[in-house]
Amino acid sequence: MKERTGCRETALLAVLWLACMPVAARPASDEARTAAYFDRIAASPPQLRIFLQAMPKGADLHNHASGSVYAEDFLRWAAEQDYCIASDSHRIVRPPCVAPASVPARDLASKDYGAYSRAIDALSMRNASLPDFERFFASFDGFRALSSGDGSRLVAAARELAADDRVSYLELMTMPRSAQGLLDAAKAGGQDGNDFGALAAVLAPLLPAAIAEARAELDRYEATLAAAQGCTGAAAQPACTVEVRYQIPVPRHRPPAQAFAAMAFGFALVEADPRWVGVNIVGPEHHPLAQRDYALHMRMFAYLKQRHPTVPLSLHAGEQTLGLVAPRELRFHVRDAVMVAGAKRIGHGVDIAYESDAQALLQRMARERIAVEINLSSNAAILGVKGADHPLRLYREAGVPVVLASDDQGVLRSDMSNEYLRAAQEHGLRYADLKRIARDSIEYAFLPGASLWQGTVGGARVAACAAALSSPDAACERYLQGSEKARMQWRLEQQFERFEREPR
Ligand SMILES: [Zn+2]
Repeated sequence: MKERTGCRETALLAVLWLACMPVAARPASDEARTAAYFDRIAASPPQLRIFLQAMPKGADLHNHASGSVYAEDFLRWAAEQDYCIASDSHRIVRPPCVAPASVPARDLASKDYGAYSRAIDALSMRNASLPDFERFFASFDGFRALSSGDGSRLVAAARELAADDRVSYLELMTMPRSAQGLLDAAKAGGQDGNDFGALAAVLAPLLPAAIAEARAELDRYEATLAAAQGCTGAAAQPACTVEVRYQIPVPRHRPPAQAFAAMAFGFALVEADPRWVGVNIVGPEHHPLAQRDYALHMRMFAYLKQRHPTVPLSLHAGEQTLGLVAPRELRFHVRDAVMVAGAKRIGHGVDIAYESDAQALLQRMARERIAVEINLSSNAAILGVKGADHPLRLYREAGVPVVLASDDQGVLRSDMSNEYLRAAQEHGLRYADLKRIARDSIEYAFLPGASLWQGTVGGARVAACAAALSSPDAACERYLQGSEKARMQWRLEQQFERFEREPR
């Protein structure tokens, strides 16, 4: 008893001593030291890069699996599979190679550096001197012969990049091959795209088999992936620690019946299998079909959401700018994604300042915690929107949650560390801002379960974990077992703790 009282007295004295110390003499917290170091190096991009490469980043919530792959990887896979490179377009094409129209991909790297280099340019935005949306979307045609095949390699590449960038969780957009049958059936049915009930009736008998096939396909991919990255053995690669979930990407530039079929497939798949966590809509938003059908697509989402209310939506919306499209198109895309479709997250949201009653829309997004996935390199390369012209600051000042994402890092020749670097350099974000973004990337992920945070992200933890320090106590452990989201948040907090303790 005597001893314990002594401890309490010592602790009390220590608190009084700290309270009486001049502020400057107090030992700074690891977080404050790290923030001060960031401020010291903020003017040096190379030093920032070293820092940001090592910084834990939580999640990349906006990542197209095929666009994540670098052209060098596609060319290597093309060589391994005896694919060919078209001599005129430099695209990857299936064998047989027929000179002079196409040459073996395996000859390129070793025998013809010029052709190899031109192929990398054709499969990506490398050496693009101006923003170029046509070239960006054409890059995907350059590697489609491979990216539409074995999806496990795409996921493996995305996980390796993520691990290298200290990203722990990915939501990858990729379409299972079994969806093609549904899209074909929808097209052949000839239904009016406005009669959702008739479309749903055509698809209903086909959905169970398509879902079962998609799940079996992912089982195979996951087994291949685990073997390739040694995830079950003693020498597991760092990529094995990256958690992956999937979103179904609905093509917005296809006929309405096909867009509906992809949506119906996505909603049903998310309900059937927890590895799929959301539905998205993708493709060039300025495409004439995408523009003509924008409002129709939002009504389709609303119709399906009524029938599957627990399925979350993250919708590409507002990836357009004045000059690219007519002003009327800039007025309602984010608005309808939020208000009609019920999106929980918005991808890009670049046109927000042009939307009707933008301030009210921003307030609603802030109030309802609808996060925006900010893709800085993508917006610069495709739309030419960057620096002060980018609405990142507008969103932050309005209190809308933002996360940083890679979009198509292979095509864009970027990575997540570079997205953080751009946010620091072009938008003046500091360590506390970036740490908040990393934390929000898990908070707004479509992982199931309650948050580790009571209210404000980074503020007070939920009661069960409030007392736990570096390792969870029994109550916290129980809480974490019940929530995938909280487990991932706990993991991120531990990563930050270690990162901030590193000597600088
Ligand atoms: Zn995207």
